[in-house]
Amino acid sequence: MADRNITIRQARTNNLDGLNLVVPRNQLVVFVGRSGSGKSSLVFDTIAAEAGFQLNETFPPFARNRLPKWARPEVEHIDGLTPVIVIDQRRIGGNARSTVGTITDAWTYLRLLFSRLSEPHVGESNRFSFNDPTGMCPTCHGLGEVVVSAVERFLDLDKSLAGGAIRLPGFGNGGYWYTQYADIGTFDVDTPLRDWTASELEALLYGGQAAADLGHKPPKDYEGVVERFERIYLRTADNLSERKQDAIRKFTKSGTCPDCAGDRLNEAARTATVDGNTIGQLARLEITELLDVVRQIDTRIVGPVVAALTARLEAMVTIGLGYLALSRATTTLSGGESQRIKTVKHLGSSLTEMTYVVDEPTVGLHPTDVDSMVKLLEQLRDSGNTVLVVEHDPAVMRHADQVVEVGPGAGAEGGRLVFQGAFAELGGSGTPTGKALARQRAMKVTNRRENGKLTVTDAERNNLQKVTVGFPTGVMTVLTGVAGSGKSSLAQELVEQQQAIVIDQKPVSANRRSTPITYTGIAPAIRRLFARLNQVPAALFSANSDGACPECKGLGVFYTDLAFMEGQEVVCETCQGRRFTPEVLAHTVNGHSIADVEELTIDETITELPDARISRALQQLAAVGLGYLRLGQSLNTLSGGECQRVKIAKELREAGEPTTYVLDEPTTGLHLDDIDTLLEVLDSLVEHGHTVVVVEHNLDVIRQADWLIDLGPGPGRHGGTVLFEGRPADYGGHSTPTSLALAGAGRATAVRRGALTGRV
Ligand code: ADP
Ligand code: ADP
Ligand code: ZN
Ligand code: ZN
Repeated sequence: MADRNITIRQARTNNLDGLNLVVPRNQLVVFVGRSGSGKSSLVFDTIAAEAGFQLNETFPPFARNRLPKWARPEVEHIDGLTPVIVIDQRRIGGNARSTVGTITDAWTYLRLLFSRLSEPHVGESNRFSFNDPTGMCPTCHGLGEVVVSAVERFLDLDKSLAGGAIRLPGFGNGGYWYTQYADIGTFDVDTPLRDWTASELEALLYGGQAAADLGHKPPKDYEGVVERFERIYLRTADNLSERKQDAIRKFTKSGTCPDCAGDRLNEAARTATVDGNTIGQLARLEITELLDVVRQIDTRIVGPVVAALTARLEAMVTIGLGYLALSRATTTLSGGESQRIKTVKHLGSSLTEMTYVVDEPTVGLHPTDVDSMVKLLEQLRDSGNTVLVVEHDPAVMRHADQVVEVGPGAGAEGGRLVFQGAFAELGGSGTPTGKALARQRAMKVTNRRENGKLTVTDAERNNLQKVTVGFPTGVMTVLTGVAGSGKSSLAQELVEQQQAIVIDQKPVSANRRSTPITYTGIAPAIRRLFARLNQVPAALFSANSDGACPECKGLGVFYTDLAFMEGQEVVCETCQGRRFTPEVLAHTVNGHSIADVEELTIDETITELPDARISRALQQLAAVGLGYLRLGQSLNTLSGGECQRVKIAKELREAGEPTTYVLDEPTTGLHLDDIDTLLEVLDSLVEHGHTVVVVEHNLDVIRQADWLIDLGPGPGRHGGTVLFEGRPADYGGHSTPTSLALAGAGRATAVRRGALTGRV
């Protein structure tokens, strides 16, 4: 009889401090703890990594190269693992051939349906696949889009032909228009194109009949600029060098395929119908509407197919994505949408005894949508799997079979098991999460006064229905509404119309060597401090000077290049990776050598390295709650939320002019405690004279805003209008999802916290 537990002994990955844990299988286990406490190190970098590593080992080497690479975690012993599937927030991204329909397999069922029922009969289901040569549109090869000439960028109207009016590469020398248009006497090579007649311009660009009307040759003898450009460059794009392709990219754009109008399919596939609808029409419907159509289909011949398709579409609706269409390219989905789609995909799987590892599934979800997400996780568990979830939302913890808290603090102050048990016991446990759940959070009493307004006018991006709305300046505004209601679309319009700046969660730097030291530029100040206090030259403390270890030249490591395996980093034996000579390491500040500095946290540095310049450079990072980062830690290891706070710190340090900042769900990855820190950080942006607009679902953040703009009422085309603009405190008594959620939370809060009168 197999062991029913996953057992972990002495885990030391990243900040884990010899952590021991026994997790029951076939349960829903929620991992909680402050940001940076080690939840991801435990769940992703230890459990998922070990399972992935062991699974890879069972494949022959050539197959292993095609599998995701897993670094073996630092752990003494793990057993009871089953194969792991990670459902993270990484966008599905890249591939232009992937749509909501293909990624969820709904498209497979729809194709099957068409292959059985379509009028006229077209053939097997591959004939409806845009990724199959027998189904794809021959013009766009199934992409639905083609590269077309950006004719408006071809000509510089202020110049003459002789002066280089044709901007395209290879058209400058005059030979071209001379051979083409010599017989048309009126093509004056010295007149700026602006002074040409419309028919002359037309003849130049398109040749053919337009040119024949002016000259003496038959239309086919005139090749216009556009035709020539497309013949030489576009139709042979695959054979061009990278540099040529770069050069012509400026003169092209992608446009809807003229043949299939974006349906991606060849003529037979895109014109056949079922109950009067083409497959393209169905793909463009919102999933909720598609469901209505599918339910009408006569199921006598195709019962199982309709049932499978209906189940898949219903799962999409349950998970709050009913507003998407199957034709939507996955490259345009948000992180939260991508994650929910991945979850649906796995729900359809009949594999059991898997371990699903899920990262913050509530991201992007309105409180009213969280319950359906939890149901999906429970469904995964009930079909015989183990579900491990990293999550900060109490609404998810409440449904866990077991809650595991890692902590108590972040970084070196975390990495230990501080709680394991039922959610009901967590509140009284005294752990950071337990205390945060029980605590009375200070309420904002007065709303700050705006000092002006930025107006977004007639916004029609995506689902917005000609929205005109004012954003008050000098205060914090929160943008709310159910997922898909249009919040991001409106935020993008604010960015475009009013030059707002987005502070997102993308990586701070692509460079692996980027650390808090390099990012804030404090290395010279640190060297000068060591020099001053030790009465020696500052250059000694530079890793490319005489003070450096002569063996590794101050790198601390050697790189070995192995022909068939990945390169290896080997620590230098002479300096043990400490990069400096023993003489240099003997010079200390407050007991820390220059090599120890990399191990100091930002908070420690501010107290231990007494230097105004260093403290000033670091104090904003500490203020945004990142005081636990080590000075030498690669910024590549930061989570999305941490990256966002690094960027806020930079703005606090550098922005002079009042600026408008837009933040999309800044609470992502934040523990309840850290949300207080975030709110303080946002407040300090406002106190510096800036305007802050946040897209957010977190009720605590919403209640702390000065102004609220609520979009809705529903997702997709059922949304896109402004339901409310005003102070959050005045948004009671409406029957909108946000007003109800605020009221619900308000009541719960009032009971728990014994406070909350009408004013927020
Ligand atoms: P959580 O998931 O609880 O927010 P993490 O497990 O991501 O926390 O991080 C725990 C600690 O380990 C943090 O101090 C973080 O900065 C650090 N850390 C995370 N990844 C790495 C890594 N690849 N290398 C070194 N330190 C890391
Ligand atoms: P929210 O931020 O409130 O979740 P969005 O502004 O992202 O909502 O989306 C509003 C609507 O616009 C949704 O129906 C969404 O599917 C659609 N949408 C968003 N981005 C795109 C896009 N790039 N192409 C087509 N539709 C989009
Ligand atoms: Zn096409
Ligand atoms: Zn060395």
